Amino acid sequence: MPRPDFPKTIFEFQQWFPDEKACLEFMIKSRWPDGFVCPRCGFNEYFWKEARQLLQCKQCGYQASVTAGTIMHRSKQPLTTWFQAAYLVTTHTPGMSALQFQRQVGIPSYKTAFLMLHKLRASMVRPGRTNLSGFVEVDETYIGGEHPGKSGRGAEGKVIVVGAVDVHGKYANRVRLQVIPNVTQATLTDFVKTNAEEGSTVKTDDWIGYDKLDQSGYKHVVSTELIHIHRVFSNLKTWLLGTYHGVSPQHLQSYLNEYTFRFNRRGTPMAGFQTVLGLAKGRIGPTYRGLYGVAKGRREWVHPTNPVGS
Ligand SMILES: [Zn+2]
Repeated sequence: MPRPDFPKTIFEFQQWFPDEKACLEFMIKSRWPDGFVCPRCGFNEYFWKEARQLLQCKQCGYQASVTAGTIMHRSKQPLTTWFQAAYLVTTHTPGMSALQFQRQVGIPSYKTAFLMLHKLRASMVRPGRTNLSGFVEVDETYIGGEHPGKSGRGAEGKVIVVGAVDVHGKYANRVRLQVIPNVTQATLTDFVKTNAEEGSTVKTDDWIGYDKLDQSGYKHVVSTELIHIHRVFSNLKTWLLGTYHGVSPQHLQSYLNEYTFRFNRRGTPMAGFQTVLGLAKGRIGPTYRGLYGVAKGRREWVHPTNPVGS
């Protein structure tokens, strides 16, 4: 049984999710598409414990949380707020700043809005996605930095981002973007191996960092024309500047994840609705303290780096 469908328009959204009860029923259907089955005894009837958002098995009394394993777990925000947030994040193509988001959804504090957005971004990444394949363009770019002027490999104060895109005919299909510490052969080869199917044709420029691809199971083509990945980088930079007015290096990976999510789902944005709510796969987002630690250079939370597939 497939998971339930997702709303395709704002009108449908409002009709489907007018209150907490409607959101809960959607979550139950998403988590148990074939109907609830008690994980302890296998019985399929339950009582609904509204106050604690629990299903209780009618036979053995086992209590199953509806929000456990999702980004909504232990949140003080109502489910309707989370649902509206997920709808906005998946359908609002340019993305939004925490301030816009706070106003649109009507969240009382900026801090809460900021945290919710980061939790939603964390759910945009899913382990076990399928790799890029066929013809794959790979290149690096530099983002941010306070000292313009010096460019190219080794630019100071900038964050290095490596990207890959698989090209179907004339069109870019899916992208992968990742913050990397350097542009060595080890780092770049590892990125390609993690993100592209073995046997793919990988097109790069003539940087020495790509010289081992031929020996790593790829057909390596050196070219000065990397049209698709350059277009991705250019759009990414415009988006980061326009929507977020630049982002801190510590959080850049989470914005790369958001960009990747939008790009790879640009044909069917609403299909991402359940994914960002964390209903598709259990994923717990960061805490505020964790994010704050990251901003200070500590490693309380690591922005995930394996972006969502097709
Ligand atoms: Zn039971």
